[in-house]
Amino acid sequence: MKILVLNCGSSSIKYQFFSLANNAVIAKGIVEKIGMKGSFLKHEKEDGQKVMFEGEILDHKIGIEYILGVLSSAKHGCIAKLDEISAVGHRVVHGGELFTESKLVNEAVIDALEKYTELAPLHNPPNLKGIYALRSLIPSIPQVAVFDTAFHTTMPKHSYMYAIPYALYKKYGIRRYGFHGTSHRYVFSRACEILGTDPKGLKIVTCHLGNGASVCAIKGGISVDTSMGFTPVEGLIMGTRSGDIDMGAVSYIMDKEKIGTKSASTLFNKHSGLLGISGISSDSREIRAAADKGDERCMLAIKMFDYRVKKYIGAYAAAMGGIDLLIFTGGIGENSDTTRAGICDGLEFLGIEIDQQVNTGLRSKEIIISKPGSKVKVMVVPTNEELMIAIDTQKIIDESKKLV
Ligand code: AMP
Repeated sequence: MKILVLNCGSSSIKYQFFSLANNAVIAKGIVEKIGMKGSFLKHEKEDGQKVMFEGEILDHKIGIEYILGVLSSAKHGCIAKLDEISAVGHRVVHGGELFTESKLVNEAVIDALEKYTELAPLHNPPNLKGIYALRSLIPSIPQVAVFDTAFHTTMPKHSYMYAIPYALYKKYGIRRYGFHGTSHRYVFSRACEILGTDPKGLKIVTCHLGNGASVCAIKGGISVDTSMGFTPVEGLIMGTRSGDIDMGAVSYIMDKEKIGTKSASTLFNKHSGLLGISGISSDSREIRAAADKGDERCMLAIKMFDYRVKKYIGAYAAAMGGIDLLIFTGGIGENSDTTRAGICDGLEFLGIEIDQQVNTGLRSKEIIISKPGSKVKVMVVPTNEELMIAIDTQKIIDESKKLV
């Protein structure tokens, strides 16, 4: 089965084309600057050869036409005809309370997603554009929506509710939803596969540390808590997001700076986090380089980042009554040995002991980095949300065929 996975953003479409016989990526790429000057498609073939196509990519539909065109082109493609694409899997950010697992796209799913655009105004509309575009370009192709929020729908009510008037939860759905669910689900499943253990008896903490970052508490194979909330701004310190902050400080800043909700949202989502503290960058590598040269604010940004992750690990160990497995993923979690070491430093009391020799210099590799005697196993597992989406898509298509 060949599955096309799409991640449609506001001005970009990332894609990966899988042959699920061997979980191989047979092509991938990105369409960038949709609706802007200088839009292009960057395509990578299975052998790693890259090709660029510049053009007027005015909207998502044209972007997807470019993708389908290159996939089926005689010169650069990997399929002779478009009907070789068995199905399309979409990353969809918000599935609200309704979608507890991935779903075959139909009218009812689209209607619900339209409704959830209120909850995810930046993310769900481009996800929907991708779905609509494919429907009009290849109406016969089955499409599957894989939600970032679905994995966290198992959180118990006491962990997802905010202590605000209950009526606001009922009226507007104000609660914690959590995000990055596909990544947390992939890395914990993959870790258990590598270890040959059943997650049923395990207490796992997964740390997805990238430009966006979140921690998840997984007990018996289900998410019981996660650090992102109603929106992705809650929780950890991120590249440009503040993470947890006293809302009293938010309203105070809004009053003092005379800004409205839109500007405040931009302030806490785009100008805060590592960028806000360091004043130089949201990229952890640049911050680390400046800190190494003695930049105090960069040193502070790193300390704050590590400390916040450490606090959440402690909180989740308490919430679950212990921890058996700690997993690092995401651009920072996979690549930064110093961040992993900084976070684990001082957590020996929980039984977390990493092997510095194994950890040092380690990049983006599936590996155990804890000492052999460490009570808690600590692992690095590079995330692969696209593969998870492709696997879900295949599963749903197979199930739907059985129903016919
Ligand atoms: P992501 O959003 O998962 O792509 O992660 C982006 C973050 O990962 C940025 O802060 C990068 O600085 C960081 N990152 C990527 N590669 C490396 C690396 N080799 N070493 C340290 N940090 C890295």
